[in-house]
Amino acid sequence: MSLVELEELEVAAGSATLVEGLSLRLEPGRVAALVGESGSGKTVSALALVGLLPAGLRARWRRLVVDGAPVSDTPSLAPLRGRTLAYLPQDALGALDPVMRVGRLIDEVLETVARVSNARDREAAREALLAEVGFTDPRAVSRLFPHQLSGGMGQRVSLAATLAAKPRVLLVDEPTAALDASLRQSVLEGLRGLVEGRRLSLLFITHDLAAAEAIADEVLVLYAGRVAEAGALPDVFSSPRHPYTAGLLGARLDRGEAKVMAGAIPPLAERPEGCRFQPRCARASAACASQPGLLNGVACFHPLVAR
Ligand code: SF4
Repeated sequence: MSLVELEELEVAAGSATLVEGLSLRLEPGRVAALVGESGSGKTVSALALVGLLPAGLRARWRRLVVDGAPVSDTPSLAPLRGRTLAYLPQDALGALDPVMRVGRLIDEVLETVARVSNARDREAAREALLAEVGFTDPRAVSRLFPHQLSGGMGQRVSLAATLAAKPRVLLVDEPTAALDASLRQSVLEGLRGLVEGRRLSLLFITHDLAAAEAIADEVLVLYAGRVAEAGALPDVFSSPRHPYTAGLLGARLDRGEAKVMAGAIPPLAERPEGCRFQPRCARASAACASQPGLLNGVACFHPLVAR
């Protein structure tokens, strides 16, 4: 059974629609990647799913079922947040309380959310959590304040505090963005291990296609607030059908030569009618002035590969 079934999410700011028609399923023990350039709507979609949109933005959906229970609106997500659905922001270190030692940060979640009332049990649980996210000396780390942590350490501490509440679904936002190659690899392996060991469902939000490829089973490619392409990651990455997906993958392959896909995501006020990728698309035709629906996993009138 899916842990999350989301149909047609829409996120709006006043009369402007930031994200529309986003549907996804998150399964236990599986990783779905939400990819796209900066400004594609990845983070606001994740924030909407955990009910943490900033003031001024609102979300609605046609259908949302979390762990078997229907969720009708954003306020109904509050009791699920942390316990069932957890979100790890990109700046995980900055989100930690600067005056609390790591041990206290994690103990607070164990005490208030996981209801571990005995101090000795909390200590054992905390040390197990810190070991699970890759710390070899959990006791020493427990004594540190956030300002004494590196970015990678802060991310693992945040992950340990998040896992203390035993969520079933984890949404992680650009967890590898600020890491060097070796740390990036260990974070990806650690997350994959958690997904398999705990049967977690992971939504991995990234602009880094190589990271998505290293960890994800499924992929959704977002462009200017709409899904351009979705499907099993090996299929999508080996034979992309949407010109945007192909452009992203091509830019990745040519990264060593600093070649990037031409153009940029249009600002909200300048999104074209119909397919929003038109100004950057070599395959655009008059038909593309209408909005393509998502058909067999691709939203394009002239897909690159017929399936
Ligand atoms: S619908 Fe048209 S403009 Fe949009 S990606 Fe497909 S071919 Fe290009």
